Amino acid sequence: MSDCIFCKIASGEIPCSLVYQDNLVMAFKDINPLAPVHILIIPKQHIESAQEINGGNSQIAGYIFEKIPDIAKEAGIAESGYRVITNIGKDGGQLVPHLHFHILGGRKLETALG
Ligand code: AMP
Ligand code: ZN
Repeated sequence: MSDCIFCKIASGEIPCSLVYQDNLVMAFKDINPLAPVHILIIPKQHIESAQEINGGNSQIAGYIFEKIPDIAKEAGIAESGYRVITNIGKDGGQLVPHLHFHILGGRKLETALG
């Protein structure tokens, strides 16, 4: 997707504060952090949102969840706890239409989700 900001981050065209990357995924600091630790993890391939996960691409979702514990550990929040969020579509508050998971921690998060 040529006009997708996260595809551009994945390709290195737009810089980011890199936390982790391999050939499948990239994790970087959110530019507008909502908590002391606010990291985004994305697949390098363009998937619009979790609504687009299916039998053909779900392996990457599993892989992302395999990497999240390592990223949390490295960020120092594995023991204290954290939250993983993915927003989907307009009502879900998704601003960037490229699948991403927010990893939030480093303070006690609010209990309200809605
Ligand atoms: P969402 O509302 O779930 O689509 O979240 C998009 C997130 O991407 C927001 O938390 C933004 O602060 C973050 N974001 C947007 N552009 C960038 C960027 N260039 N680098 C890092 N984070 C970004
Ligand atoms: Zn994209």
